[in-house]
Amino acid sequence: MDLYEYQAKHLFDMHGVPVVPGAVCETPDAARIAARRIGGTVVVKAQVKTGGRGKAGGVKLAANEDEAWDRAGDILGMDIKGHTVHKVLVTQAAEIAEEYYVSFLLDRANRSFLAMASVEGGVEIEQVAKENPDALAMIRVDALEGCTPEKAQEIVTAARFPAEVADQVEAVLLKLWDVLVNEDATLVEVNPLVKTADGRVLALDGKVTLDENAHFRHASHADLVDVAATDPIELRAKAFDLNYVKLDGEVGIIGNGAGLVMSTLDVVAYAGEEFGGVRPANFLDIGGGASAEVMSNGLDIVLTDPAVRSVFVNVFGGITSCVEVANGVKFAIRMLQEAGKPVDKPIVCRIDGNRADEGRAILVEAAIPGVELVETMDEAARRVAELAAAAGK
Ligand code: GDP
Ligand code: MN
Repeated sequence: MDLYEYQAKHLFDMHGVPVVPGAVCETPDAARIAARRIGGTVVVKAQVKTGGRGKAGGVKLAANEDEAWDRAGDILGMDIKGHTVHKVLVTQAAEIAEEYYVSFLLDRANRSFLAMASVEGGVEIEQVAKENPDALAMIRVDALEGCTPEKAQEIVTAARFPAEVADQVEAVLLKLWDVLVNEDATLVEVNPLVKTADGRVLALDGKVTLDENAHFRHASHADLVDVAATDPIELRAKAFDLNYVKLDGEVGIIGNGAGLVMSTLDVVAYAGEEFGGVRPANFLDIGGGASAEVMSNGLDIVLTDPAVRSVFVNVFGGITSCVEVANGVKFAIRMLQEAGKPVDKPIVCRIDGNRADEGRAILVEAAIPGVELVETMDEAARRVAELAAAAGK
């Protein structure tokens, strides 16, 4: 889960990483009050979960409270790379002498952590890596040893930080490492980390990605979830404990096992090309036990999406036999009907694996209107794409 800048900075502050005080505002009036309280020049910053806000016009200086009101009015409601700005962060403006870059991230490929640092911050780090790779120090940080004072010194030396800020940058690195470990983050990034005109080192921006698998260890992280920015169908899926990701196509997908669902997305996208570019509408993995209840929750979720025109149920019976899966589909449709949500979109089922013949026989016998049984995954993908295209005409 990615955090907003203001949330990242709040975690920084709790762990002693120096940040400037600020206030999160949802209206120009609130920005005015914040600017008045802070005093002097402030920065008004769009809070969206994407980088490059500065370039997009989402970070503006304001010399006084009237200007802060104006700038907040400009920025609130802006669209930055597809993200609408609902909040701005108003902070004291720092007088920047130099802009640096520092981060720690999980390096999965090397089963380790990686520190990155550069004295050429303020610009996108990918750009530095491409145009001037020597300016970007990358230092491995052992997961068990962590970032020791010696390691922090090694990073600072490798990135060639000026001597007068070395101690401060080392201290920031140690505290950022605390954020990473204590908050169970997979990324902590500061760009820019600045030296101010009076020689202080401050985190002017912050990016933190939390490891959702560790949420159970952090009761306070629940407050960081931005319900308003989460897709409402994804929220409902979460409440059902289903693995659902909204995509932008027309074919609803239900499968068991992440691998099977991923390949289902591929075959549907491929088959859809023949029908004017029909694409999968979602990822939904209902997991191992495809019981009637889980299947009905899954169907319910997928059918709620108004973009869905047809549904592909692609289940491979392993420990759960196809008999249970077929009964699951049958009862799921009945449960939805009884709940006043009749299934009015065509469903294509492909069930294979353990006791496939018996499972298919159950669906054939049930003869549910709108439900078709297709033997292979490719044929089923083609059929469901065809139905989606027909429904869209
Ligand atoms: P990003 O573009 O989304 O990464 O947003 P940042 O928070 O990094 O801000 C972009 C740029 O705005 C920074 O690199 C700075 O140059 C500038 N900026 C941000 N805060 C301040 C500030 O307090 N004072 C000054 N003078 N410039 C700032
Ligand atoms: Mn930045």
